[in-house]
Amino acid sequence: MTSLRWGIVGASDIAATRVIPAMRALGQEPVAVLSSSDERATAFAQAHSIASSTSDLDRLLDRSDVDAVYISTTNDLHARQAIAAASAGKHVLCEKPLAMSLDDARAMVAACDRAGVILAANHHLPAAGTHRKIKELVAGGAIGKPLAVRVFHAVSLPERLQGWRLSDPARGGGVILDITCHDASAVAAILGTEALAVAAVACSQGEWQSAAEDAVVTSMRFEQDVLVQTHDAFTVGYADTGLEVHGTEGSICSRGVMSQDPVGSIRVRDANGERTVDPVDSRDLYEVTLAAFARAGRGEGAPIVDGVAGFRALAIALAAKEAAETNRTVAVDSNVRPITAA
Ligand code: NDP
Repeated sequence: MTSLRWGIVGASDIAATRVIPAMRALGQEPVAVLSSSDERATAFAQAHSIASSTSDLDRLLDRSDVDAVYISTTNDLHARQAIAAASAGKHVLCEKPLAMSLDDARAMVAACDRAGVILAANHHLPAAGTHRKIKELVAGGAIGKPLAVRVFHAVSLPERLQGWRLSDPARGGGVILDITCHDASAVAAILGTEALAVAAVACSQGEWQSAAEDAVVTSMRFEQDVLVQTHDAFTVGYADTGLEVHGTEGSICSRGVMSQDPVGSIRVRDANGERTVDPVDSRDLYEVTLAAFARAGRGEGAPIVDGVAGFRALAIALAAKEAAETNRTVAVDSNVRPITAA
């Protein structure tokens, strides 16, 4: 593969606003787009200067000029489309959450393993320069042994995204699969450990008629007794976002970093006082993800969030959903490749 050639599966907002521009900035080429509607496929192709459009997934996957697919349909469709792409020998970059169930996500990981293709989840936060710097600080012992993480990720849902996210749990709506899932990927990447258990309280507090939860707080226990709190919402217009890691020897406090843009700041506080951490890599998060994906496709290194990490973020989000629905603390199932009887 010289420059990656993409099949765009889903005429979505995120493909249009973030991912296709990032592909082009890297010299990668979207060569065809799929929509469930021929009219929308044609309109999307025209709007984004994509040469070909179709509503037939097999036709898109049959193309020899498609090296990889980027899947950004609604969440209920990810698994079926990813497994079909893997079977056709295409690398798969799939939007988060990878799927709607752990069984589907396991099947995606297994299908990509079998086909020998890359599977990655498009969780943008672990690609952020700020998050990679926090991970480096934690791994380098800057705050001693991590004890707790606090995530502030309550935002206002833009009007253009107020469709299936609020109205349709069957397509993967709700703030837990939308935002808590991102927090999970970010915290797991920074700590380098797995979540064990999740408790959660959720509600619908917006002025809209929402069929799914639009606000949630969670409490999680990760390995080595690290406690994690998150607050995620579609309903909060004026809060800053942030992520803090508190350890035995110091604290990392970051602000503005739960963002799709390369923004935000990091401060470290310890026995020597407080300092700003600078400079931080400010490349576009989606470009970082796509560049790593292309390298992984050439056999050089790993994606930023591989299929297993995407599975684990989903496992945390689904445990949070179950915890909120049942008022129980729920164990996280992180068994990506279950051992089956011979
Ligand atoms: P959209 O609602 O924009 O698109 C999802 C699907 O909805 C499209 O595939 C399209 O179906 C259909 N659709 C879009 N516009 C219309 C329309 N005008 N009329 C009818 N149907 C329409 O979703 P998002 O871009 O917000 O999210 C897509 C995926 O990306 C989700 O999995 C989401 O979780 C993820 N996401 C990830 C982000 C990240 O930063 N990693 C950020 C935002 C979303 P069809 O393809 O059949 O035309």
